[in-house]
Amino acid sequence: MPASDYDAIILGGGISALTVALQLQMKGYAVVVIDKPAGSGAAGLPAGLANPAYGREAKKSWESEACIESLYRLSELADVRKNDWQEGWTQWLEPGEAAERFPLVQTKYGALWIQVGMTIDLPCLLTELRTKLNTMGSTLYSATTSDVYEGRNNHTVAADGRELRSPRIIFAPGSGIGDYPQWSSLKFNRVKGQVTAAAFSGFSDPGCSVASSGYAAFTGYNRVVVGSTYEHTWQNSSPSHETGRELIARFRNMCPQIGESLTHADNWAGIRLTTPDRKPCVGAHWEIRGFYCIAGMGSRGLLMAPLAAELIADHIHSNKKIPAQIDVTRFYRTRRFMNRT
Ligand SMILES: Cc1cc2nc3c(=O)[nH]c(=O)nc-3n(C[C@H](O)[C@H](O)[C@H](O)COP(=O)(O)OP(=O)(O)OC[C@H]3O[C@@H](n4cnc5c(N)ncnc54)[C@H](O)[C@@H]3O)c2cc1C
Repeated sequence: MPASDYDAIILGGGISALTVALQLQMKGYAVVVIDKPAGSGAAGLPAGLANPAYGREAKKSWESEACIESLYRLSELADVRKNDWQEGWTQWLEPGEAAERFPLVQTKYGALWIQVGMTIDLPCLLTELRTKLNTMGSTLYSATTSDVYEGRNNHTVAADGRELRSPRIIFAPGSGIGDYPQWSSLKFNRVKGQVTAAAFSGFSDPGCSVASSGYAAFTGYNRVVVGSTYEHTWQNSSPSHETGRELIARFRNMCPQIGESLTHADNWAGIRLTTPDRKPCVGAHWEIRGFYCIAGMGSRGLLMAPLAAELIADHIHSNKKIPAQIDVTRFYRTRRFMNRT
């Protein structure tokens, strides 16, 4: 039997993969992370909001408080700046109220106000996580292909000519999970989305990020990321200039004064992997020992992935049960999700 090279191989390089890697590394596991070359997946998102509530009723999403706490723990581990999160953290503002509190923000319908805007600069967070993993001794590779071969005691990943063996493989490749036949019976929805990152001048940061008809995530340094679209049918995953113009127009409705001063815009598009119940899909494979997945973060990955990653690391390390609400087997058992055509 060939010896294993690592305690765990993690496929992916987004927030899910890097957080699982960090959690396992902290528990003493020797981990290797294999990512595709820069720019692929939803990991390329320039910024987003960790929004714990849906719509006008500010209905909380899955384990929203626990997700925020987990995101805080992650930001501390990765040494990135965090905000304080207190009681009474969401409120729906009617149009007049929103304009009065935030004169630079204008909305016809009202807006969901979150006490301290959880604006996530994703490239910054991922860079800090990679740095942290490097300093803790994890190995990080970039590879255009990563083929997986099942074994009895050890599985093998062939990544651009390297062969790596481990008893555990954690699949966290975002929408890339569809490339692996071992998981192909999970029929996720693939929803395309676009954001536009723009620079503005003459105004200081408005002091909040906005989620109204879309969102405006202010990232400091006079930059705003405006998002996002939801395209359920699409031909290719590239961003379009036309959609970029629509997003800028949307931003000008939300923040007319700042909108007038926009000087430069870059478009970015990515694919969200979503589940029918809008909760993550996490846990051990139903047949293959040592295979795990963390996927299906949909439009809330910045919020949900840190908690999902803690849960799967605890499951791997101490066999702690994955909550039924997010366990991958909820789809396997009910067949509600699998083998759908
Ligand atoms: C337009 C848009 C706007 C969004 N806005 C928000 C927002 O405001 N708030 C929010 O919470 N979420 C938002 N999201 C969703 C969020 O980006 C995702 O939920 C999150 O990025 C998922 O993280 P992940 O690590 O699971 O997957 P990804 O971020 O997709 O990362 C997957 C990684 O795996 C790599 N990979 C792919 N295939 C392979 C392979 N075969 N082998 C190895 N590596 C591979 C990719 O290169 C990538 O690095 C948005 C998404 C889009 C598209």
